Amino acid sequence: MIDECERISMVVDKVIEMFKPDPARIQFEDPFYALVSIILSQNTSTKNVQAAMERFRRKFDSVEAVASASLKSIQEAIKPAGLWRMKAPRIKLIARQIAEGKIDLGKVLSIPYSEARRILMSLDGIGPKTADVFLMFARGEPVLPIDTHIFRVMRRLGVAREKDDYEAVRSKLESVIEPEKRILAHLALIEFGRRICTARNPKCGECPFSGICPSSRLRA
Ligand code: SF4
Repeated sequence: MIDECERISMVVDKVIEMFKPDPARIQFEDPFYALVSIILSQNTSTKNVQAAMERFRRKFDSVEAVASASLKSIQEAIKPAGLWRMKAPRIKLIARQIAEGKIDLGKVLSIPYSEARRILMSLDGIGPKTADVFLMFARGEPVLPIDTHIFRVMRRLGVAREKDDYEAVRSKLESVIEPEKRILAHLALIEFGRRICTARNPKCGECPFSGICPSSRLRA
């Protein structure tokens, strides 16, 4: 019987080997557009995020342009992304706060993690996960953001308990996974949740963890 740390380590190494994520393909040259891209990525495939970002950038060439745009024109621009109706007001609100000088995203990238995270989360529409993903991609912060797929996978594998919140699962994984491996772990676990341990009808028959997973459908 393996303990929890070994279980996390084994799962992470295996999913990295399976999906071979390449963080270099995710590049941001502007922090505001990085933030928009992270918001668009929720419940959306990489291909559709790219399509939505292309339209968004073509339509809006500055944060001020987004801040003063109508909600309808933002929604129209990001339509290839899922939940676009809900994401547009969030993007507009964040653009407005940045345009009004409530936050300097460039500065946020150069200050210590906890301070940067606190400032980001002071913006309406930015929670701990969005702040962590932003800091991880935009400046290589060695954090391991827990998205909905990672949460589900960890619950099913018995690593996350029902009462565990975002911070509890994040610190559990970070206590086991070395800083330099966290970005790979984040990307690979999401891929695993999208392709194998899916929200509905997980493919336990194709899963390398079915022998150790308490939620495996093969045990039924
Ligand atoms: S065995 Fe099934 S439920 Fe468990 S991690 Fe694999 S796909 Fe998910």
